[in-house]
Amino acid sequence: MAVAASPFSQSDEQKAIVEMVRQFADEQIIPNAEHYDGKDEYPEPIVEQMKELGLFGITIPEEYGGLGLDLTTYCMVVEELSRGWISISGVINTHFIGSYLLMKYGSEEQRQKYLPRMATGEIRAAFSLSEPELGSDVQAIKTSAKKVEDGAWEINGQKMWVTNGLMSALVFVLVKTDPDAQPKHKGFTCFIAEKEPGVGENTGDYAGLNVPPKIKKMGYKGVESTELVFDGYKCPAENVLGGEAEGLNNGFAQMMDALEVGRANVAARGVGLAQRCLELALRYSQERKTFGKPISQHQAIQFKLADMATQVDAARMLTRRAAQMKDAGERSDLEAGMAKLFASEAAVFCATECLRIHGGYGYSKEYEIERIYRDAPLLLIGEGTSEIQRMVIGRKLLQRHKI
Ligand SMILES: Cc1cc2nc3c(=O)[nH]c(=O)nc-3n(C[C@H](O)[C@H](O)[C@H](O)COP(=O)(O)OP(=O)(O)OC[C@H]3O[C@@H](n4cnc5c(N)ncnc54)[C@H](O)[C@@H]3O)c2cc1C
Repeated sequence: MAVAASPFSQSDEQKAIVEMVRQFADEQIIPNAEHYDGKDEYPEPIVEQMKELGLFGITIPEEYGGLGLDLTTYCMVVEELSRGWISISGVINTHFIGSYLLMKYGSEEQRQKYLPRMATGEIRAAFSLSEPELGSDVQAIKTSAKKVEDGAWEINGQKMWVTNGLMSALVFVLVKTDPDAQPKHKGFTCFIAEKEPGVGENTGDYAGLNVPPKIKKMGYKGVESTELVFDGYKCPAENVLGGEAEGLNNGFAQMMDALEVGRANVAARGVGLAQRCLELALRYSQERKTFGKPISQHQAIQFKLADMATQVDAARMLTRRAAQMKDAGERSDLEAGMAKLFASEAAVFCATECLRIHGGYGYSKEYEIERIYRDAPLLLIGEGTSEIQRMVIGRKLLQRHKI
């Protein structure tokens, strides 16, 4: 009788890369996360090692200097990094979205110009949709660009919540280029805005793009989230994603496509974080004793462990399905939405249960779960909240099952 392949099967290449990243997380990320979280400091030495491991080029084709691996393998790597600390995966996540946009929609000239340096991590990317007055409602974007005499596009407006907003050299930014477009989404363009990494007030070619001090956050520290202020910033016409002829007023569709892979990416982050909570809970519950026995021997605690493990596996399966469908060239908007919704909720559930299992110590900064508990809720928000995922899933379901 044929035995069904395990939904978690991996090729030899995947096993090797996952093993390498897990070891990196155990040896370099987990022992240092408390330090960088406590100081809210950019984890530069860890980022340097990620460059050496080739992690910035995982999905970038070999011809541009990357590893040329698929979304499924990328999600496995993200799971391992997030098991270490989701802020570390945050450093490559927006970079991954930027490289996806370039690979899929960039002109050959743009790919040649940026991808080789992105593959090594020499330059890193951010992406920017959100503004102070909008996140879910992307079509309400106010930041605008208009063509000026020298053929460049002048961008004005304010962006919000840009992860890697300071340390990035490229920002894939969605702005309004045709205020009269009907429907509205046909009036947005994605620009590749270049800037000086690590610099608050840009000058010279990048004058007019300023990065205010990073936003103080409850968790997800280390990696910075910033506003971006565009004040007369000139973006050359060749930096319209895909070139002016192809890319002008096509930015909305490009970004929505990138969000689809972004959702599989956030789902993988949820799986990694939830997996770490399960590991911590399994260990602590066998060490801590109450009423003369390890708390793991109380049925109430075993039920918590059972629920956590079930959610972790289910989240991983949904994530794997979404990534594999995308890799096979199938539409996976519905599946990516389901994976993102379930895995991010599973992450918050597992963080809460793990904290409860740790009792009072879970509230102490001496235990890893204190940080994870603050980090987890971000996953409910980024790349579309749970409410927005349900809207996407519901809409797609009705489209696929129209009577
Ligand atoms: C740490 C962090 C990093 C981020 N990084 C980035 C980044 O790199 N780039 C970027 O562009 N953005 C980024 N974001 C922004 C993020 O994508 C938005 O916060 C998110 O999309 C939600 O938008 P909002 O905060 O404006 O909430 P709102 O859109 O104002 O929503 C508020 C509440 O209303 C609900 N809601 C909204 N509309 C509906 C509706 N139609 N039906 C039912 N409920 C609804 C939402 O689910 C939410 O609960 C980041 C956010 C955070 C916190």
